[in-house]
Amino acid sequence: MSDLLLRNCTLKGAASPVDILIADGRIAAIEAQLQAPNAEIIDCQGNLVTPPFVESHIHLDSVLAAGDPHFNQSGTLFEGIQIWGERKKTLTKADVQSRALEALKMMAAQGVLYVRTHVDVTEPSLVALDALLELQDQVKDWTTVQICAFPQDGIYSRPENIGLLEEALKRGAQVVGGIPHYELTREDGVASIHHIFDLAERYDRLIDVHCDEVDDEQSRFLEVIVAEAIKHGNGERVAASHTTAFGSYNDSYAYKLLGFLRRTNINFIANPLINITLQGRMDSYPKRRGLTRIKELWQNGINVSVGQDCIYDPWYIFGTGSMITVAYMTVHVSQMTGLPEIDACFDMITANGARSLHVQDYDLKVGNPANVVVLPVKDAFSALRFQVAPSHVISRGKLIVQNKAATSEISVG
Ligand SMILES: [Zn+2]
Repeated sequence: MSDLLLRNCTLKGAASPVDILIADGRIAAIEAQLQAPNAEIIDCQGNLVTPPFVESHIHLDSVLAAGDPHFNQSGTLFEGIQIWGERKKTLTKADVQSRALEALKMMAAQGVLYVRTHVDVTEPSLVALDALLELQDQVKDWTTVQICAFPQDGIYSRPENIGLLEEALKRGAQVVGGIPHYELTREDGVASIHHIFDLAERYDRLIDVHCDEVDDEQSRFLEVIVAEAIKHGNGERVAASHTTAFGSYNDSYAYKLLGFLRRTNINFIANPLINITLQGRMDSYPKRRGLTRIKELWQNGINVSVGQDCIYDPWYIFGTGSMITVAYMTVHVSQMTGLPEIDACFDMITANGARSLHVQDYDLKVGNPANVVVLPVKDAFSALRFQVAPSHVISRGKLIVQNKAATSEISVG
């Protein structure tokens, strides 16, 4: 592998452009006017160069499976779960791996090189989990996949589910998941969170819970996660995904909760594309947005990253793999249209995602693995404004993607 020299790179927040030298798969130097006579040169033209995008929340076992056996006509979370319940009976390893691989390539083409996937572990053969564990190893030379064992139907809804969740950790899932608001009772939901924290401690795993993904203002499992994180002192290893009910809590309760949250360092992962479409379905008007309080969490210094959640699956029929689209949607639905707020939304698909996923060696820093994305614009705002794809994606020091700018010929006026 020959050395690469990226000339004239603008790093986010830096005053003047630099060159980046890549050798042996790592960043060897970052300085102005580097000399490297034998290196292959990429002229970045003063454009924005960033670490890769981070997909904090997706379900690779169900990607690209929309319409099979039928499409979700009501658009609700619950019809999605019911359709998936039928589809998952027909899963095979090859089926999961081919769809997941296609999605990972779609994402890599758009600069996404870190992915946390949830995988349904309430299907008794655990075939999807085995398929993704194998795939994770097959793709590790060009993308990093982290697997969360996700009990889609609930831990206590069937007696065998509790054992399946633990078995998934034994087989190698790196993150423990849950879905307390979908357990049969509130008591089961609370118990499920205690169980998740216990498993995470015993198996030394991260935690990422689908939490309060409903419009019900009485769905209050986030406070249970907060209490557990305070007791265990492990908040930075914990993520609360969705938390859409937080958008429906009364302000007095939300304010109290924000105070507790500041003590825990837990990470929030919002999924604006999917939740703006799934939630509020039972409302007439005014119709709620069904999104967690992204702006307020950010204002309180709490780590928020965002995910795509779905690509063409039983819950959501769109999705291209682009995290730029997710950040763009975050700006809109969270009303984060001030320039510092737009900048923060860009962080939610880069640095904040790396923090949520506990990615080591993420930054563009000498000695770190050379995972680098070149965007065809000068700054983060322009990346969202024009919703660009990267011009170059470098993974482990190797150029793996080049996207040519689309051009239009217009003959009017
Ligand atoms: Zn999800």
